[in-house]
Amino acid sequence: MRIRKGKFPGVYVFVDEDGSEKIATKNLVPGQKVYGERLIKFEDEEYRVWNPRRSKLAAAILNGLKNFPIKPGSKVLYLGVASGTTASHVSDIVGWEGKVFGVEFSPRVLRELVPLVDERRNIVPILGDATKPEGYRALVPKVDVIFEDVAQPTQAKILIDNAKVFLKSGGYGMISVKSRSIDVTKEPEQVFKEVEKELASYFEVVERLSLEPYEKDHALFVVRKK
Ligand code: SAM
Repeated sequence: MRIRKGKFPGVYVFVDEDGSEKIATKNLVPGQKVYGERLIKFEDEEYRVWNPRRSKLAAAILNGLKNFPIKPGSKVLYLGVASGTTASHVSDIVGWEGKVFGVEFSPRVLRELVPLVDERRNIVPILGDATKPEGYRALVPKVDVIFEDVAQPTQAKILIDNAKVFLKSGGYGMISVKSRSIDVTKEPEQVFKEVEKELASYFEVVERLSLEPYEKDHALFVVRKK
C-alpha cells in the first residue's frame, strides 16, 4: 500500500493492497471522517479515500478530467454543498490558505454540515438559495472557482448569475449536470448540447466529460469566465 502525488496538486493516488488505484486527499483535520470514508496513514500523514460513487468531482477525476482549477489556496464558491461530502475533499485540497463558501437551501441538510466545520474552519456554511446570489452577496468575496451541483432545471443560468457577481475574470466554473433534472423527455445528449450552448453565451466552455458509469446521464462541464 502506498500513496503518490496525482496529476493535480492536492489530489493523491492511493495504491491499495490488491494493487487497485483510488484517489485520496490529505486530511486537513486528522482523525475526522466525514461520510464513512476510509482513512489511510502513510509516512506520518493521514489521507481520506475519495469515493466516486458519492462524489461527482471524484467521478470526473477518475474519468480523466483534464482541467481541474481547484488548487491549494483557491477560494471556491460551492453551490449545493449539502452535508459536505464533496466539499470536505475540496476543503482538503484548498487547505488553510483557501476557503470554501458552501451555499445550501435546505436548513435540515445544512445542519449536518455544521459539526464538521467546527474543526474544518475553511468551510463557511451559508443558508441561501443559489438562484438568488444577492441574498449572500455580503458573505462571499470574489472567488477563483464556482462549483455547482444543485440538480435543478435552471442549472446553467444559476452558474451564470453567480459568476456575474462572484467569479474573478479568468476564473473557472465547474457544473455537474443531470439531464433528467432538466428534461426527462429528451435524450441526455440533446440536454447536454442545450446546456453547453447556454453556458457558451457567457463562458468559454473548456471541457465536457461524462460521469458514467458512476452517475447515469450526468455530465460535468468546466467553463472559464472570459
Ligand atoms: N454536492 C454535494 C456533494 O457531492 O456532497 C451533493 C449535492 S446534492 C446532489 C444537491 C444539493 O443542492 C441538495 O442538498 C439540495 O438541497 C441543494 N440545492 C438544490 N437547489 C438549490 C438552490 N437553489 N440553492 C441552494 N441549494 C440547492
